[in-house]
Amino acid sequence: MHPRTTTERTTTDALVLGGGIIGLVTAWRAAQHGLRTAIVDPEPGGGAAQVAAGMLAAVTELHYGEQTLLALNIASAERYPAFAAELEEASGQEIGYRACGTLAVALDADDRAHLRELHALQRQSGLESEWLSGRECRRLEPMLAPGVRGGLRVDGDHQVDPRRLAKALVIACERAGVTFHRQWADRLTVVGDRARGAVLADGTELSADQVVLAGGSLSGKLAGVPAEVVPPVRPVKGQVLRLTVPPSYAPFLSRTVRAVVRGSDVYLVPRENGELVVGATSEELGWDTTVTAGGVYELLRDAHELLPGLTELPLTETRAGLRPASPDNAPLLGPTALPGLHLATGHYRNGVLLTPVTGDAMAHALTTGELPDAVRPFTPRRFSALEVLQEQTA
Ligand SMILES: Cc1cc2nc3c(=O)[nH]c(=O)nc-3n(C[C@H](O)[C@H](O)[C@H](O)COP(=O)(O)OP(=O)(O)OC[C@H]3O[C@@H](n4cnc5c(N)ncnc54)[C@H](O)[C@@H]3O)c2cc1C
Repeated sequence: MHPRTTTERTTTDALVLGGGIIGLVTAWRAAQHGLRTAIVDPEPGGGAAQVAAGMLAAVTELHYGEQTLLALNIASAERYPAFAAELEEASGQEIGYRACGTLAVALDADDRAHLRELHALQRQSGLESEWLSGRECRRLEPMLAPGVRGGLRVDGDHQVDPRRLAKALVIACERAGVTFHRQWADRLTVVGDRARGAVLADGTELSADQVVLAGGSLSGKLAGVPAEVVPPVRPVKGQVLRLTVPPSYAPFLSRTVRAVVRGSDVYLVPRENGELVVGATSEELGWDTTVTAGGVYELLRDAHELLPGLTELPLTETRAGLRPASPDNAPLLGPTALPGLHLATGHYRNGVLLTPVTGDAMAHALTTGELPDAVRPFTPRRFSALEVLQEQTA
């Protein structure tokens, strides 16, 4: 039987396809700017935020070649205290923003050399971080293994609880008058040369002046999107463990601790409520979200090298999620070459960090038609063959 087709009489100003943290913050900010806004998602507030650690790691996540992204990351990190306060006020929910800082440590000579390189890059980029000896690291975090050879103290990299962030954003959207359609969008509606809305899984046709595609790692999969504007986004799997620090153990860790162990990133993010998040693998395995024995083993092995006492803690959860990755590891934000269609996707490993700046940039784009100056480098048009050619020949 074919699903019944209905057309909603009202046209919204902004229709957001995907209700992960990025779609939600876009809708919340759009509604605050007076736009009639709707979200389509079978499970708003789900997605990668249910797995993510929630590090706000602008400085410790710096990589060579990502200086443009660094500026956006820093801009978003700076907005976090005010953003958290505003969202908590608007939703009545705490989001676990914790200005605890981060310590990145090295366990052997190779890790130490790697950290020294990162330190040099951070200083070239004008970022604050301090080199510590192994003994100084252990003075800060007494549970660290005796073998820690040195580390970087980064007092500006904080954390938030992504699950609480997502829940608060759903409530803030509801309170701001955003309409929720709890189902899948099947296809984008294009009339003439313009995006005009979407058809949902039950056949409902929604019309809108502007559509925002914010489907996370699924963003490239929506039917009806013309080939030249399909976002080049792919899933990168990450497995994460959650342990619980009993009150009698506290304080186990007072800040986020991370390291590269034999070439793999491992981090431990301690929450005030006793949750200790250990992450994360990084696997190019398509849509697979299986938690594997090997993934859990490697995370526990590496985390145990950093903090031997960790094996005493109850293991309360294992989970895998998908990071929405783009070809240059940076997000795709704002208008596409198809009038009426915007993107808010490709946030990869920094989506939680980039939530505040994304909401502001997308509301600006939806109300003015343009991105704020600081966000222009993240236009989806940077991947359009024609525009890349024009830029190269200019
Ligand atoms: C293991 C792991 C650790 C991470 N750690 C951190 C971290 O420490 N710090 C940090 O800043 N970031 C981190 N991230 C990244 C961060 O979680 C993501 O970048 C961010 O959550 C992406 O949000 P999103 O809303 O774009 O996508 P998603 O969370 O994937 O949400 C997309 C939503 O769109 C919906 N959707 C898709 N297609 C459709 C459709 N056709 N119709 C309706 N709905 C649709 C889905 O149901 C989903 O709810 C981590 C991610 C992972 C996986």
